[in-house]
Amino acid sequence: MTEVFSGSFTQQEPIPDEGIKAALEVMQSGRLHRYNLQPDEVGETGLLEQEFASYVGAKYALAVASGGYALATALRAVGVKPGDKVLTNAFTLAPVPGSIASMGAVPVFVGVTEDLTIDLEDLTVKAEQANVLMLSHMRGHLADMDRLMAICNDSGLIVIEDCAHTMGAAWKGRASGRDGLIGCYSTQTYKHMNSGEGGFFVTDDDEVMARAIILSGSYMLYGRNGTVPPPEVFERVKYETPNVSGRMDHLRAAILRPQLRALNDQCNAWNARYDLVEKGLRGTPGLTVIDRPEAETYVGSSIQFLLLDWENEAIDEVLHRCKARGVELKWFGGAEPSGFTSRYDSWRYAPSERMPKSDRILKGIIDMRLPLTFSLEDCALIARIIRAEVGAVFQAQA
Ligand SMILES: *Cc1c(COP(=O)(O)O)cnc(C)c1O
Repeated sequence: MTEVFSGSFTQQEPIPDEGIKAALEVMQSGRLHRYNLQPDEVGETGLLEQEFASYVGAKYALAVASGGYALATALRAVGVKPGDKVLTNAFTLAPVPGSIASMGAVPVFVGVTEDLTIDLEDLTVKAEQANVLMLSHMRGHLADMDRLMAICNDSGLIVIEDCAHTMGAAWKGRASGRDGLIGCYSTQTYKHMNSGEGGFFVTDDDEVMARAIILSGSYMLYGRNGTVPPPEVFERVKYETPNVSGRMDHLRAAILRPQLRALNDQCNAWNARYDLVEKGLRGTPGLTVIDRPEAETYVGSSIQFLLLDWENEAIDEVLHRCKARGVELKWFGGAEPSGFTSRYDSWRYAPSERMPKSDRILKGIIDMRLPLTFSLEDCALIARIIRAEVGAVFQAQA
């Protein structure tokens, strides 16, 4: 009998009851705007900022409307100007180069390694071209952060971290987003906490945070934020920093606060699923599993593997056969951008020199989401299906 999987790869868990209850209370109060507060009230958004700052160990956190908004705010807060070059990963998702382009700045793509992390050799070569690296921990893979920071410090590169896939992850115990000057996170539905849309911006830098708060649309009510730099810092920046509204509201904050309390347990639940699938895929002929470094604490909310040097038709055939058995794989390297494809050459507004070594890897990246609505049995079944179909196509090729 051929086994078939019938779960949905886009079905998230419900919002926790506690979050629904808190959201109802916000709605009943009618006070949804983050600055619509009683005199002595911090409010859901301010409380969430305090709790998130403490979770990642940052001095300051700002809750915003989306992860992409946090990235663009970071570029503004460090003074990126139209025409400036900004280094970023060749392997990332569209909102990352998009945030750079939204500033009128120019993305310069840095290659990807077989570990699916930024190519530090290529970064060293390109470091002189820019003042800022927007580092995307795409699909939760952390580069060697010690080496990366040494390269960036040597060449005076400011690091902004895109932690859309690494909320809850760490390098040698340091929370992801805390090595760079600024860490940006997303709470969009498919990330590690779900408020539909939303994000965070964290830093220890007084002036960067003061600018970010004003940029986010604080209407000179910045004193009411959850984590606030000293007043004299605002005096220095408040007349010169534009308002580019992108606040989070109390409703989203209310549904996020219980999720933050549960985040570490959720991360463990993802990793139990990830580790099962990885184990099931190991040793499949023609398939390369991505080894995770010892120093990395990862969050396996999705899994990637490589079909290196496979013909396009054979990769298509694997996708097709898995789909027929209910397993939805994404081919990030597909030639035509569709859905969440992630190749630097699909972003034609930001032309790049070809990177043959990266192209070979990008072409072979297969991705699969692991929503927490999947049971461990589901994950074992999914791995058996992929293993069988990759194996069958590989054998037919040989
Ligand atoms: C989702 C995502 C973002 C931005 O998140 P939004 O909240 O959707 O704007 C940034 N980077 C990566 C890699 C992402 O997957």
